[in-house]
Amino acid sequence: MMRCECGEELRRIESTMHDCTVCGKYTNVAYACTNGHSMCAECVEPHIRARVKEICEASESKDPRLILDSLLSDDLIFERALRYHLIIGPALVAAYRNSGGDVDLDKALDEIMRRGSMIPAKACGHAGNCGSATSAGIFFSVIADTHPLKEENWGEVHRLTGKCLMDLGSIGGPRCCNRGANIAMRNAVDAVKDVMGIEMELNDAECHFKNDVCIGDRCPFHSKS
Ligand SMILES: [Zn+2]
Ligand SMILES: [Zn+2]
Repeated sequence: MMRCECGEELRRIESTMHDCTVCGKYTNVAYACTNGHSMCAECVEPHIRARVKEICEASESKDPRLILDSLLSDDLIFERALRYHLIIGPALVAAYRNSGGDVDLDKALDEIMRRGSMIPAKACGHAGNCGSATSAGIFFSVIADTHPLKEENWGEVHRLTGKCLMDLGSIGGPRCCNRGANIAMRNAVDAVKDVMGIEMELNDAECHFKNDVCIGDRCPFHSKS
């Protein structure tokens, strides 16, 4: 539960223009308490990150799709296009730890979300670089401990993001964050197996998200039911 500074619970509301009680900006607010205080997206961000960490650290699942679903069904995190690229990496690293991967989860989650928050919104259509692919790349870079000047695994990280983008490109648009997430996680799970020798689980057989940009049978995850 997220609390307002006055102590009351902060709940999600229909997005509306209002003064943010925390930073004072007149902007779109999406959370309010019963005393009429409201909070903007920027001020809510640290609370969302704390909640992502809480769910990921408590999870015992080896399947990043299951962890992603529990993040998406959380009232505080909820489904929003911008959130996907912040939570794919955390879901992957939690599943990696639960599959026997050697990682300091607390530190990794902070670093993955720090880097994830730098991915621009709408980078898929505006730059040909879906945030889901970058989120998978961030996860892999963190667990493989690579950086710009390192030889080891630098190429593997690029091959992972590249494979995600090739898969997305061959299916075509418009974008669906859930399809992007499934493709990113499938390729990340394969890369972890190939490079680290660690087997994670992934049940991405059927997508039940019916959003307004669903491409139906053109999507490999489209559910017939
Ligand atoms: Zn309040
Ligand atoms: Zn604010």
